[in-house]
Amino acid sequence: MTEPTTPVAPPPFTAADYAARRERAARSAEAAGLAGLVLTPGPDLLYLTGYAPVAITERLTMLVVPVGGEATMVVPRLELPDAQEAPGAAAVGLVDWTDGSDPYAATARLLQPGRYALSDSAWAMHLLGLQAHLPATTYAAMTTALPMLRAVKDEHEIQRLTAAGASADAAYAEILGVRFAGRSETEVGSDLADLLRRFGHSQVDFTVVGSGPNGANPHHEMGDRVIRDGDMVVLDFGGLQHGYGSDTTRTVHVGEPTAEERAVHDVVRDAQQAGFAAVRPGAPCETVDRAARAVITAAGYGEYFIHRVGHGIGLTTHEPPYMVEGEHQQLEPGMCFSIEPGVYLPGRFGVRIEDIVTVTPDGGRRLNRTSREMAIVA
Ligand code: ZN
Ligand code: ZN
Ligand code: ZN
Repeated sequence: MTEPTTPVAPPPFTAADYAARRERAARSAEAAGLAGLVLTPGPDLLYLTGYAPVAITERLTMLVVPVGGEATMVVPRLELPDAQEAPGAAAVGLVDWTDGSDPYAATARLLQPGRYALSDSAWAMHLLGLQAHLPATTYAAMTTALPMLRAVKDEHEIQRLTAAGASADAAYAEILGVRFAGRSETEVGSDLADLLRRFGHSQVDFTVVGSGPNGANPHHEMGDRVIRDGDMVVLDFGGLQHGYGSDTTRTVHVGEPTAEERAVHDVVRDAQQAGFAAVRPGAPCETVDRAARAVITAAGYGEYFIHRVGHGIGLTTHEPPYMVEGEHQQLEPGMCFSIEPGVYLPGRFGVRIEDIVTVTPDGGRRLNRTSREMAIVA
């Protein structure tokens, strides 16, 4: 059994880190013709201030980052002490409001006529509250208006993503030693979750165990099906460590595979490698999808590869940039995303292989390092 290594805690982000991120965000907003950003609790607010309210309630918390001005956060008075302690709050003006007063009026005073990028997950009641005060101000969803807000990771973010990937890899190495045949998908999934936590994850977000025909449904999580000798099993798992995500997939086989199973697995492995080889600064995201897809199409399985090849990862496990046909965004050093081609044969089995990759000046670097050959389990 591999013992977990003592994880070296990455250095905390500083007030200066957060201030630099807000400056960069304001510049991007200006370049996009926006008046600024409006954020409610969630990953974007965490990214720009380090603030994550313990409970997200109907009480308005809203950060306004204007182009060419000071960032200000409107918070309920009872949460003011928490907001003041956020690591990035130092240079953020705080405006508190009490129950019985109108927080939208307080926020409206911080906004100009114009268009703002608004958190994707802002509650409709908050948006409607602002609109009642400011009919001339308009909003665009953050992912539409500023999709690359969090896409380029700095060195310390990549350090966190690397650590999360290494823990997921350690969990995979261990799971190969557990019994598959005769146990349910849920039992194996629970083993995976325990391993992720043991190797340092603070949170497990998903443990997909897709055995036999269940592996042919990319959205299957896990269920009561008892795994049998002869099954292909898709294992896709991840969560958060030091606040950053892991997400890796390997497809294993219980006992000896058939020639067809091996052939399909090798096509997906080669597709994954082709996608990886297409990673370089300046390449449009869609070229990564195309490179992987070309291998699967050439092998005759094109119609069974039914999803985009990858998604960005960071504070969340699915975020821009997306590696998908039609995405012309160019890759930049520091971007981190999955490359996860698959072949799904309905009613039979599925194969997916997924690594997280970061863009470097000369190409790509994998943050998952386990073998992409098919592992045989018992
Ligand atoms: Zn089989
Ligand atoms: Zn995954
Ligand atoms: Zn993924």
